[in-house]
Amino acid sequence: MRGGNGEVKQQPYWGDTVVACAATPAPLPASADVVVIGAGITGLSAARALARRGLSVVVLEAHTLGWGASSRNGGMVLTGLKLSAGTLLARYGRELGRQLYQASLDSVDLVEQLIRAEGIDCSFRRSGHLALASKGAHYEHFARAADLLARKFSHPVRLVPRGALRNEIGSGIYHGAMVDELSGGLNPAQYVAGLVRAARSAGALLHERTLVERIERLGPRRRVRTARGTIDAAEILVASSGYTGAATPALRNRLLPIGSYIIVTEPLTEALAQELSPRGRMMYDSRHFLHYFRLTADRRLLFGGRARFVPETGRAVLESAAVLRRGMLTVYPQLHDTRVDYAWGGTLDFTFDTMPHLGSMDGYHYALGYAGHGVALATYLGTRFGERLGTTALPLDPFTQIPFPGAPLGLHVGKSWLLRCAAAWYKILDCIQ
Ligand SMILES: Cc1cc2nc3c(=O)[nH]c(=O)nc-3n(C[C@H](O)[C@H](O)[C@H](O)COP(=O)(O)OP(=O)(O)OC[C@H]3O[C@@H](n4cnc5c(N)ncnc54)[C@H](O)[C@@H]3O)c2cc1C
Repeated sequence: MRGGNGEVKQQPYWGDTVVACAATPAPLPASADVVVIGAGITGLSAARALARRGLSVVVLEAHTLGWGASSRNGGMVLTGLKLSAGTLLARYGRELGRQLYQASLDSVDLVEQLIRAEGIDCSFRRSGHLALASKGAHYEHFARAADLLARKFSHPVRLVPRGALRNEIGSGIYHGAMVDELSGGLNPAQYVAGLVRAARSAGALLHERTLVERIERLGPRRRVRTARGTIDAAEILVASSGYTGAATPALRNRLLPIGSYIIVTEPLTEALAQELSPRGRMMYDSRHFLHYFRLTADRRLLFGGRARFVPETGRAVLESAAVLRRGMLTVYPQLHDTRVDYAWGGTLDFTFDTMPHLGSMDGYHYALGYAGHGVALATYLGTRFGERLGTTALPLDPFTQIPFPGAPLGLHVGKSWLLRCAAAWYKILDCIQ
């Protein structure tokens, strides 16, 4: 796609930077201490931690290992949750709000520790993140947020006024920014490949192309029915995120699957890359339909956004690529003649309170709802679950303490008109706020 035309690879760019880590086909074991459904960051982190405790763990993945959002994302390892610090305090009170925010900081540390402990080569760097104010009022909001983070969470962030933005970004469209130096970036496919190796070497069994169709209760144990046979399990972790389906209908009804799309340019010259992002930060703007962008290790610009409020389909990728390219040129007109090499989509897992949740229902455990912060938080919730299952520490985790609401008025999430209404609402908010 140069100047809007040309061939674009419709696949995640990250896939071309990693050797696929396929599972060797093997018969399913008859039973396991824990069955994990979904081989993304949540499932693999949990499997690694569980297996390190000596439990027998089987991970079942409907597609290939890491097929879901975990290998398709922007690779931003972000502090904070999707909800602002102020909303966390107002909604959950001072102590629980503080614990939830602190967990987000701990999650970034955990990613770094895990990468180091397992020797995962995934270009992880604490490059910091840059939240960009799309409107003047949003910068004023940043100033209030920075004050709150310093006072209530002892977490310093730095404001960058409009006049000083050139040190941070080669774009003139923003009204200021907020820098958080604790965030980082990585190559998500390489990270997932490392988690696969780590879970395997800890002793977990990983099975791909194994769709879980149903979970049945057998007294205190569970039977997991798959397209390839059954496994009995003492415990089950559902780690299927935005791809949660018919096997766990009650959980599916508490999730809003949202399509997010990414384009990646051809490699840029060193000078142009330096101009676009002098400090190599992870960047995103302050709108509801936000854009997020960063440089890759080989100096391409990755530019993503919620170009459509529906789960991805083949055609949606190309349509979204065109929308995203226009968005990219609004931020960086200097990329007008730059080719787009890759375009793809993936599904985000939003919940109705925009919070991650760790808990149990219908005889299984779940960990999901990361709302675009899953690289760090899925590592955190998966690992915490794996380290604490069966101990008294698990129920104390702050993410188990918050209520998990379903759709408002009991509406069924599968209805596309509900997603369209939500999309229209957020578009209105972007215009008026
Ligand atoms: C385009 C995009 C960009 C993003 N960018 C960022 C970012 O920059 N930073 C960030 O922190 N987060 C980002 N996210 C979010 C982040 O990627 C996710 O929150 C995180 O990867 C979720 O990991 P997971 O392991 O819970 O789920 P996934 O990685 O989605 O894995 C779930 C797996 O479950 C499998 N599955 C589902 N049902 C079944 C079943 N019945 N049987 C067997 N297997 C099943 C699926 O096939 C899938 O592989 C982004 C997401 C997308 C889509």
